[in-house]
Amino acid sequence: MSFRTHTCGELTLGEVGQRVMLSGWLARVRDLGGLLFVDLRDRYGKTQLVMDSTAEVAELVRGLSSEAVIRVEGEARPRPEGMANPDMTTGEIEVAVDSVEVYSRCAPLPIGIEDEEEPGEELRLRYRYLDLRRPRMQRNLQFRHRALQSVRRYHDEHGFIEVETPLLIRSTPEGARDYLVPSRIHTGACYALPQSPQLYKQALMIGGIDRYFQLARCFRDEDLRRDRQPEFTQIDVEMSFVSEEEVFSHTEGMMRRLFTDLLGVELRLPFPRIAYSDAIARCGSDAPDLRFGLEIQRSDDHFRGSGFQAFEAVLAGGGAVYGMCGKGKGELSRRERDELEALARAEGLAGLLSVPVVEDGLKGVLGKALPPERQQALRDSCQAESGDLLMFAAGDVDGVLVGLGRLRRILAERWGLIQPGRFEFCWVVDPPLFEPLPEGGGVTSVHHPFTAPAPEDVERLESDPLSVGSRAYDLVLNGVEVATGSIRINDPALQERVLAVVGIAPDEARRRFGFLLEALGYGAPPHGGIAIGFDRLVMLLVGESSIRDVIAFPKTNTAYSLMDKAPAPVDPAQMAELGLKFSKEP
Ligand code: ASP
Repeated sequence: MSFRTHTCGELTLGEVGQRVMLSGWLARVRDLGGLLFVDLRDRYGKTQLVMDSTAEVAELVRGLSSEAVIRVEGEARPRPEGMANPDMTTGEIEVAVDSVEVYSRCAPLPIGIEDEEEPGEELRLRYRYLDLRRPRMQRNLQFRHRALQSVRRYHDEHGFIEVETPLLIRSTPEGARDYLVPSRIHTGACYALPQSPQLYKQALMIGGIDRYFQLARCFRDEDLRRDRQPEFTQIDVEMSFVSEEEVFSHTEGMMRRLFTDLLGVELRLPFPRIAYSDAIARCGSDAPDLRFGLEIQRSDDHFRGSGFQAFEAVLAGGGAVYGMCGKGKGELSRRERDELEALARAEGLAGLLSVPVVEDGLKGVLGKALPPERQQALRDSCQAESGDLLMFAAGDVDGVLVGLGRLRRILAERWGLIQPGRFEFCWVVDPPLFEPLPEGGGVTSVHHPFTAPAPEDVERLESDPLSVGSRAYDLVLNGVEVATGSIRINDPALQERVLAVVGIAPDEARRRFGFLLEALGYGAPPHGGIAIGFDRLVMLLVGESSIRDVIAFPKTNTAYSLMDKAPAPVDPAQMAELGLKFSKEP
């Protein structure tokens, strides 16, 4: 039995006169002046079918609801004068149908497939198989597929070996909770699903696979945000005998390839690098968005001893004052500036002082409070000109920077400072190795505990851990972290020291990571790598704003699958076999 001679996106004037057979979904049926017009759809496009209204085949089709699956046969012919549709590949022909076979009828649809209007997300996820028929998801999945192929080709051409690492593993820490899989055979023990293949890729380096990559599924049990999923895909990469430079140029090459293959955009290489501390100081974020200015300036000196009491008090209490310049925004009305202040408060700032810059100085409170030289110096330090708006916030250093960092991004959107279609990558380098845990709870790794410390800081690991730099790096695109990686520790003694600093004492270290510590003692090459968040990258490339729209079967914000209703309670017999009993009521 044959189903089709062509797809629904294929026929052109070239096939006119041929007898053709098409299979697909019934997209639209219209009865017009004695003729029945039908759009038949598949993944490749739509083809217009015509039949005489009174014909038996028309009767049959009229009795079907849309989204039924049929096969038709007939002759391809040109559309009548003036009826061609230049926007479709098949827009110049139609198929005069004389035979219809119905494969599958369609129940009343819970979501429209052909509607312009987007169904609600809950319905989209519950009926994902229907949502996938919609053009947006068809495009996104095809785009994702092409991105996968492009990544595979690139790595293959550069001598990388794709290795699949296991999903049932011992816990690998990446700072989230593990998903656990209880073992039946080893009662009382659990596998963890990998938060990343980190330790396996390091084991591969020790195993002599000096260039590894994998499109790796990773699982992290975290409280979910808009751009997170409990399971996601990373382009996971590890290389031996490399330093940061090789990892950077490899990753840049992959990005360049992806952008040319998928968007026809030529990226400028190398990507700029910005020190972690500068990113925080200039943009209030470790993932700086470089598509626009609005850079943050520390302005303490301009206010110290200035007589402007509000800021002097903050400085005296050990706080700081930061400024930002809104180019050409000096004309904002009082009401608009009040609105700005409200935005700033919503982002956690105590307030926002905004002052228009005029020809001979500053307006408003600062114009009155500061002597002319100070006004001038302040303007110069923020590179402000007449017509601009200076904005200042004061408070504790970290709080103000984070608040201004968020405000900066909101204002860039509001004020239209982001050129559409612009892609700005940067490497954020030299972050600290550790960060403090809340309430004097010691320190934890900023990246993960397998990241190498900056060699010159190793001697201070125990005495002053927060001052130790690391050989980690992040790749940021348009203010979104798209990749993270590091040069690793390849000396077991140093690895043990770093684990001890994050509170994993030697015996616990041996219990949890014994195999790694042992392996590092059997000839571990210097190595490093990176993992690129594939879903997020595809999302940015295809222009979506949620990773759920580039994942075929994503979960909701509560890590729930609406389609198959997972997670679900399991059979008591299955639990008993695993030796499990829940102590919490569902
Ligand atoms: N394993 C790290 C992560 O998943 C990436 C890396 O260091 O290569 O974030």
